[in-house]
Amino acid sequence: MRKRVIVVGATGSIGRQTIDVALSHPQRFEIVGLSAHSDLEGLLKAASSFPGAALALSGASEEAARSLSAARGRSHPAAYLGPEGLDELIRSTEADIVVNGAAGSGGLRPSLAAVESGKDLALANKESVVMAWPLLKREAEESGSRILPVDSEHAALFQLVERVGSGEIEELIITASGGAFRDRPLAELDGVRPDEAASHPNWSMGRKITIDSSTMANKGLEVIEASRLFGFAPERIRVLVHPQSLVHALVRTTDGSLYAQISEPDMRVPIQNALTWPESVACPFGRLDLAGRTMEFREADPARYPMLGLAYAALRSGDGATVAYNAADEEAVAAFEAGAIRYTSIAPVVERVLAEVQPSRLGDLRSIFEADAAARRSAALAIREKECSS
Ligand code: MG
Repeated sequence: MRKRVIVVGATGSIGRQTIDVALSHPQRFEIVGLSAHSDLEGLLKAASSFPGAALALSGASEEAARSLSAARGRSHPAAYLGPEGLDELIRSTEADIVVNGAAGSGGLRPSLAAVESGKDLALANKESVVMAWPLLKREAEESGSRILPVDSEHAALFQLVERVGSGEIEELIITASGGAFRDRPLAELDGVRPDEAASHPNWSMGRKITIDSSTMANKGLEVIEASRLFGFAPERIRVLVHPQSLVHALVRTTDGSLYAQISEPDMRVPIQNALTWPESVACPFGRLDLAGRTMEFREADPARYPMLGLAYAALRSGDGATVAYNAADEEAVAAFEAGAIRYTSIAPVVERVLAEVQPSRLGDLRSIFEADAAARRSAALAIREKECSS
């Protein structure tokens, strides 16, 4: 029987590549649900190969709602609107796995809907883990849902941990490309523009995550994610800058050896692995020929990437601090995009917010969203103080 797949964030980078994987293995996968935030045209285009799939626009306007209703009935019998609509699509559609490629903190509710309704969750939305791991884990354990990481580094660690055995592993190492400014003189970072920060040397991704890649906030979120997913303390997780993005992660075993997962930077590899798990299926993507290739590794410079150290600090401090780290970064990056603060003010805004967080355990959605909102209020104040005069 074909695996039935729901794709959340179908018009984004992960969603489009998931559809690509599904179309490459039509005998294995059937897409039964697709959602987008507000891009109706993109959603209908993505859905054109899957008649019968349920559709949702989670951030829909009135106008989009009318067009979606018009599309409904012709080829797509069910259409849902708003965040509650997406929630209902995930819970009520019969499916085996949900691929969550939604961007940002908006991805949390779809993740919870997937695990609470007993569906496996192929998770590319790292904010779900950073904001709500204890809740997500508990709900998955109760329903029997499996959480399968799709983020390239964590998908690599998942493969390595399964193959090597977690009892043998001393240290997890994730790599970072170093982002758009890895070779830019530090003194020039003050004046960089949003469009420069949003262009990535190796991966083609959404705009926020690409800016996060340049500051290493993305890697910081990934350190938090790795610690939670694999149960490793922060001091046993290391980040290495690896400009070629061929090695996605390594593990060091107790005998000191390193084992690496190596492939071309192509997200269809981790997406396919998550979709076919626990089977391993021939993969037409990302196969690397090492001959003639060069790989280099270096330490992440704390002066260039202060967001990385702040992530470790948040992880040591606990749930409330990791929620605040994510919320403050979202606010600071939005302010930088809007021209309100400089690039070099992103980390100081986050640092300021973290300094005000009270350590807390967050076990339910309400307390998580309260902590998130408090951090955003505190970020707004910090941003006002940092506002550019020019
Ligand atoms: Mg990643």
